[in-house]
Amino acid sequence: MTCRMCLASNNHSAPISVATRVGIALGSNLGSNLGNRLCNIKAARDMLGKLMPADAQLIQAPIYQSAPLDCPPDSPDFLNTVVEILYTGLPHELLKQTQKIESSLGRDRIYQKNAPRPIDLDILYFGNQSLNDEVLTIPHPELTRRRFVLEPLVAIRPDLVLPGDSMIIAEHLQHLDSGEVPLSLVKVDW
Ligand code: AMP
Repeated sequence: MTCRMCLASNNHSAPISVATRVGIALGSNLGSNLGNRLCNIKAARDMLGKLMPADAQLIQAPIYQSAPLDCPPDSPDFLNTVVEILYTGLPHELLKQTQKIESSLGRDRIYQKNAPRPIDLDILYFGNQSLNDEVLTIPHPELTRRRFVLEPLVAIRPDLVLPGDSMIIAEHLQHLDSGEVPLSLVKVDW
């Protein structure tokens, strides 16, 4: 019997019925306190989980707190994490879904660059696919340059190798020289 749900991490033109491993970074720095930011992250995680096939398990990293980087003055700290889902659609369809989740959690699509936001969802990798057009770049261009992405990602997928790369993600974290203040661990189970 043919399994329609096999993983497609190496298939460049995966048919829609094949599930692909997709990493998504979640960040929140809007909400009057850390509890609100945690609620935003949990709500986004739950909605992302609903995009998966019924029997699939979402994998989630711990939640970390990070100082805002390249943000307007007095921007609050972020909560950050990474989840990995199985997704059976196309990258641009997923982008529409993640933008819908951002809007449903109060994110205004017209905003100052890097302004505080209740939720930010970035597609980090989409199986082994690479693409770069006017709306979507995969793998995410900042993935290996940001501690607030690399540290949670290493917690769940240390051995991941991005398409076109030769280093595993854990090595990228070891070699990172971003000048960012170290992250603090907020929650392992959430
Ligand atoms: P941001 O301010 O980080 O939320 O960036 C939003 C814009 O980045 C969206 O309008 C997307 O079209 C674009 N974008 C490009 N690549 C990606 C990606 N890998 N994940 C999410 N958004 C992306």
